[in-house]
Formats: sequence, C-alpha cells, structure tokens
Amino acid sequence: MATYTPMIQQYLSVKAQAQDAFLFFRLGDFYEMFFDDAILAAKELEITLTARAGGTDEKIPMCGVPYHSAENYIHRLIEKGYKVAICEQTEDPAEAKGVVRREIVRVVTPGTVMEGKTVGEKANNYILCITERQGMMAIASCDLSTGELYASSAPASKEWLRDEVGLYDPSEIIGDGALLDWLRESSSPIGKPTVYTPWDKTKDELGRKQFGEAAWVRLEPERRDCVALLVGYLSETQKRSLGQLTKISAYEPENFMILDPFTRRNLELVETVRERSKRGSLLWLLDRTETSMGARMLRRWIDKPLLHRSLIEERLEAVDHLYGSFILREDLKEALKQIYDLERLVGRIAFGSANGRDLIALKQSLRQVPAIKALCQASASTTLARVAAEMDECVDLADQIEAAIADEPPVSVRDGGIIKKGYHERLDELREAGTNGKRWIAELEAAERQATGIKSLKIGYNKVFGYYIEVTKANLSLLPEGRYERKQTLANAERFVTPELKEKETLILEAEEKMVDLEYALFTELRERISGEITRLQRLAEHLAVIDVYRSLAAVAADSGFVKPVLTDGYNMVIEQGRHPVVESVMSDAAFIANSTKLQQEEASILLITGPNMAGKSTYMRQVALISIMAQIGSFVPAASAEIPMIDRIFTRIGAADDLIGGQSTFMVEMADIQVMTEKATSRSLIIIDELGRGTSTSEGMAIAQAVIEYVHDHIGCKALVSTHFHELAHLESSLSGLSNYSMAVQESGDKVHFLRKLIPGAADSSYGIYCARLAGLPGGIIDRAYGLLQDFEQAAAEVASGGVERRSGQAVQQSAEAADGRVSGVAVQSANLSGGLAQAGLQGEAAGQ
Ligand code: ADP
Repeated sequence: MATYTPMIQQYLSVKAQAQDAFLFFRLGDFYEMFFDDAILAAKELEITLTARAGGTDEKIPMCGVPYHSAENYIHRLIEKGYKVAICEQTEDPAEAKGVVRREIVRVVTPGTVMEGKTVGEKANNYILCITERQGMMAIASCDLSTGELYASSAPASKEWLRDEVGLYDPSEIIGDGALLDWLRESSSPIGKPTVYTPWDKTKDELGRKQFGEAAWVRLEPERRDCVALLVGYLSETQKRSLGQLTKISAYEPENFMILDPFTRRNLELVETVRERSKRGSLLWLLDRTETSMGARMLRRWIDKPLLHRSLIEERLEAVDHLYGSFILREDLKEALKQIYDLERLVGRIAFGSANGRDLIALKQSLRQVPAIKALCQASASTTLARVAAEMDECVDLADQIEAAIADEPPVSVRDGGIIKKGYHERLDELREAGTNGKRWIAELEAAERQATGIKSLKIGYNKVFGYYIEVTKANLSLLPEGRYERKQTLANAERFVTPELKEKETLILEAEEKMVDLEYALFTELRERISGEITRLQRLAEHLAVIDVYRSLAAVAADSGFVKPVLTDGYNMVIEQGRHPVVESVMSDAAFIANSTKLQQEEASILLITGPNMAGKSTYMRQVALISIMAQIGSFVPAASAEIPMIDRIFTRIGAADDLIGGQSTFMVEMADIQVMTEKATSRSLIIIDELGRGTSTSEGMAIAQAVIEYVHDHIGCKALVSTHFHELAHLESSLSGLSNYSMAVQESGDKVHFLRKLIPGAADSSYGIYCARLAGLPGGIIDRAYGLLQDFEQAAAEVASGGVERRSGQAVQQSAEAADGRVSGVAVQSANLSGGLAQAGLQGEAAGQ
C-alpha cells in the first residue's frame, strides 16, 4: 500500500468502508471507479475501461462517469441489484493541504433509492428488516420514498415470515443472517430480485428520537428491536435526516386474511403467473385509481384482506354510496386527477431533495382538497363524511407556497428565479439593484457609442472577464487613448474595461450573488417549514388515497355489474351466479357462464369437482377464492348475490407453474404444501386444490387424495373445493356427509365436445383423455387398445378404492362398484349421463344453445 499515491491510498481507505458497494469517487467533474469496481462497472454500464498510474508498477483499472449525469448510471446499477456509495470532496480544493478530504455522503441501495425506475410510481419500494429473538420473529418494513413504516411480529414461524415478506415484495432485506439465508434459499416464487444484507448495528436512541418516546415504548420489544436495526441501517446509508419517517404502523397478523406467496401467485392477485405483468391480475381489474397513493393503497388492501366484519362494512358503505352516484364518482375523479403523488413529494421535502417545482406540485394538489372534502361531506355516506371530517385541507401550507414560490420555477434551486416578487423586502431590493445595474450598463453602452462614434461598440459579459466593452479591429483607431484598458483579444475584436465599468460590475455581481444566495436560503427555509408539517401532509395523503380507492372500487363495480356482498360471521358461503372477474373481463366473444356456489356446514362444505381438462374447473375454484378476497377488502363482487363468511386463510394448491421451483418434484411440492395446510388451516379457512394427487402412481395418488380429503373433512372442517381426475373418488360422497360431487358439464355433438362451463351436481364419468387422443388423429388401433387397457386399470383401481371405503363404511362399496361398472363402457355412456345431469341442473335449454 505504501507505494500507492496518496490519492489512491485515500481511495482504498474509503473503499474499505463500502466493501459491498460500488464506490463513486469524486475527482473534479467525474465520479471515478478503480480496481475491481472499475472492471465490473465498465461491463455493467457499458463504459470504457481505462487505467491510470497509481504509484506502483502496474496501472490501476479505472472508469468514470460525469457527475452531472451520474444519477442515470447510479439507477442502472441499483436496478441490477447493486449498491452505490457516493464519495464527495468535503473540503474546498483551494484550501486543502495535500489530498482533498473525501467522505461517503450517501449509500444508495435498492431498498433506499428515492427516485428512478426502481421506485415504480404505482408500487411501493420496500426495504425489510427481519429478526428472531427469544422465540419471536419480527419484521419492519419501510418505503423511504413515501415515509411508510410497518412493523409486526409473531411467534417464530418461517411460514409466517415467508408470507409476510411475500406481501411486501421487497427490493432489499436486512437483518438476521440465518433468516436471510433461509429466505434466499426458499425464495418466494413472486417478486423482484432482492438484495440481502446481514445487519446487526442497532440504533435504539435514534428510533426513540425519530418516533417519540411514547410511540417507542408502546411497541413490543421484539418489534422495537427490529425497527431500531432498520433505522440503524437507514441512517448509516443515508447519512441525513429521515424526517419522512414519522410513525410506525404496527399491526397484528391475526387481523388479516393470510395468503401465502403461492396462493397470491396462483390467484394472480397483483401479477399474472405467465407474464408477471399487472395486466390480467385482480389488481389490474380493480385499479381505476387516479392518484399514485390510491394505487399503492389498493394494492396494500389486496395484499391484506380484512377479517373484521365491521371494518369491511365501513369500506363497503362508502363504495356503495359511490356506486350509486355516477356524478359523485366523476366529480371526485376530476379533482383527484389533479393531485400529484403527495406521499413522495412529502418524502422529498423531508429528505431535502424537493425543488421549486415539487412545491408548486404540492400547492396545486392542496388546492384540490377543499372540493374533495366538500363532495365527501355532502354525500350521504357516513364513511366518506367521517374521512372528510378528519381531513386537514392544509390551506395554510398552500398559501405559504403560493406567496413565496414563482408559478413556474426552474429545476435548479441554486440559480435563483424561484422566489416571487413581493415575498421578501431585501430580495426585492437586491433585484431592483440588479435591474438598475443592467439599465446603467445599457445606458453606458449608448453613451460610449456616442462618445466614440463607433456604432458597433457593445458591452457584453462573460464569466471569466466579467463586463467588457467590445470594439471591432476595424474601429480600434477611433478609440481614444488612456481610459480603456485592454483585457482580451479576439480574432477580429478587442475587449476593454474602464474603471467605472469595473466598479459597477462589482456592485451588480455582488447583488446577483446575494440575490441567488438569499433565494436559496428563503427556499430552504420554506421547505423546512413545510417539512415540519409533514405529519399533517402524510395524513392528508392517506385520506385522499382512501377516497380514491373507494371511488375506484365503486367504478369497477358499476361498470362490471358487481353486487354488494352480505358479510357474515357465520360459516356458510352462498354465491348465486358467481363469475371470475378477470376471465370475464378479458373475454371478447363469448359470454362468461356464471356458476353458483354453496358451501354449508350442515350440508356440503367440500365440493369434489370432476370433469375433463379445459372444462372450467380451475376457473371456477379461483373465482370462489377471488370473490372471498374481494368481499374482504371491501369490494363488490361478481355475482347475482353473495353471502360471504369471514375467511381467515386461503390455501391453494394449483398445478403447473409451481413446478418451476428449484429442483423439487411436483409431487414433493404438493405434499409440502399439503403438510402446511394440515397444520395451519382452521375451520374458517378456504382450501382449493386443483388436481389432487398428481405426480405419483395412480393408485398411490388416489390413496393420498382420498386420505387428504378425509382429513380435511374430519379434522379441519373448513370449506374446500377439490378437483381431481380420479373419478373413482366420487364414492366419497356417500361416506363423507360434508362432501358433494360436482362436475363441469360437457356436451358431445358428432365428433366434437362442447364445454358448457356449467357446474352440475354429480361426478363426471370420463376425463375424455382417450377421446381427445382420437380427435387428435391417433391411429384407430391405438385408440382401441387404450380403451381396452383403461377398462382393466379402472377395474383394478375400483377394487383399491372400495377396499379403502370398506373400512370407513360398508354401504359405500356397493355404490363405488356401480360407479366403476358404469364407466367401463367408456365414452359411449357419456352423452346419456350428461343429459341426465343437465336436466337435473335445469340446463337443457342452455346446453342446446351452445
Ligand atoms: P380446467 O381447469 O377444467 O382445465 P380451466 O378452468 O382452465 O379448465 O378453463 C379453461 C378455459 O375455459 C379458460 O381459460 C377460460 O377461458 C374458459 N372458461 C372457464 N370457465 C369459464 C366460464 N365459466 N365461462 C366461460 N369460459 C370459461
């Protein structure tokens, strides 16, 4: 090290403080990177790698970016999941002895970035801290750009942790190293790439100061520890005030419906499985919000459906009123449309990075509030009226901005032009002096022209020489001797100054400098004053967001023909003519076929659904889950009517895409899911299993499926929808009082199968696999042989199944054998059975119409 130049030595000592980040080392107008940082950055940013001498024999790899365009490069690295430490010169180079002092002024990380693409407008950007202490796990979650901070805890359980982490979709997680390792390995199937940083430097005192003694001691110890760690990390990386963090929103996990990451993904709540896009998700369907805060709040609601009926009913009451009044919806929409992202504006104000335009955006937004408040007050909704009553219009803040800030301020806060005339006496005086000075210069120019007779003489200004008198070479002879001092020679002109011009120049420049400094001081003073009112602004942002969400839910409900659900604390779920809201909304040609659902304690709480592939089984099952979720976030639901009990948790086990998870077989994944389900489900849960028992041999699969269904029926007692291609399981209907067979109706005509998408009582007889093979054109010999083999297999399977049932109930055996008998004749009996089923469901007409 001794052989490196002093500058490189300084670099290395700063770099030692930021090992896991790119170090942007300020050298004049550039941020330079050296050594491995330079090699990697050159590759990632596609910039030229060079080298410079550093005192040793070998040159040091180097690359750099201009400081004025550094933002862009920083964000590109952040988006790739890196951290960037910014090292500035912290003393004036003119005054420095030896190497200029340099320090890291901020570490930008994926979870703490305030601007750029990572901070999607309509989504939060969270950094999480997770800890485990004395049998308790805690989580603290913060969006630095909006100032939100959530904290919760629960008895140690990795599933709980995984579910919570999944909700936030964090870009960065810090905290307990062992937990981080586990999370990384069992990485949730949804979400963006996450940066993991083990972290144990806590800042209890800072937390106490940040949130206030009262709030701090109210927090459970494990949550407090977790928040203190997070605050420690934030202060260490940001190295500045975290004024936007004003309150900790602590919540109890048991107040919300639990949705594990797989379920959230299977149900496509916020993004689709295939494209991982918002388009096609429930969020996409429900999001008609006008503000970014509203969009983010709606997403949080979908992430955390409520469990308390009264709270949901409060939301529904507001949605109902808005549903009933198109005019109110439109009026609110017009006003909300003009509101900027208050949360992020306020975040920037507190962070000290807001400029004049941000304050104008804040003012314009605040000016909309009185109208919104009046609209809500005038509505008949008690929920809206309550929100309006709590709403602080912050008129005083809007007035202050209006008085101080020019209507169209420049982007820069350092070059003047921000503060309005009439706001500050001294500033106006300085401006007057500046204007007078300029007038004086103009007059001097005229006088000099007259005195010398040189018409082309002009007075100009540049940064190096200040004001000068310019005379073309052709006219030089006209200039009198003595008074003019030569300053600069150009190709065809000379520039001069005179003593009086110099004197005036000093006055003008001084005034200008003072003016710019004063403007900046006045601006930051106002910004700080507003920053002091941050709590008021954050609460207002929340009120506006909630109104926006109510409005959005009402608009979708009105346009899509949803109804207000009736919520109950009971067990039964009764949905008349339910629809899958998203599938319905993207169907262009055909109409979506509605299906009813009755899951009742005394009658059937488990529906065993059979039917061929593509018949609509999984759409139907998802629709039931989505209707529950929609009801519990306070939305209307796609049905003719719906009686919805409070569901505490939804489990889904839905095939296909889950198979992607690292190396595990479908079957193992399924079994692990079922294990969690048996442990966590309560009688208030809803279980959805698609194609139970795939991935192993037929008889084993069927045996496991039957055993799982029996367990759910006998020991959990919750509502469940199970689809299976094992028709043999239909016999369970006679042994399990809470189970009913259903199937998806199909109709054959000629050599075509029509999917009627209608749920009908009774089991299906065939999955049409061989039938489909024939349609696909397989040789007749193969088809015949397959039917023959099917007959053998099914007979054998029926024997296994009836053996199982015998132990449970003797009378079931008979039924099962009959079922098996019916099936051996294969497709031939299908139509007859089907029309029977249809007649039972009263669907004959509809089927014919297909
Ligand atoms: P399965 O799970 O039985 O294989 P799906 O539920 O995946 O079948 O449904 C297959 C397709 O049928 C869906 O992609 C959807 O477009 C359509 N579909 C499903 N249910 C309905 C319905 N009730 N009305 C209209 N179309 C439907």
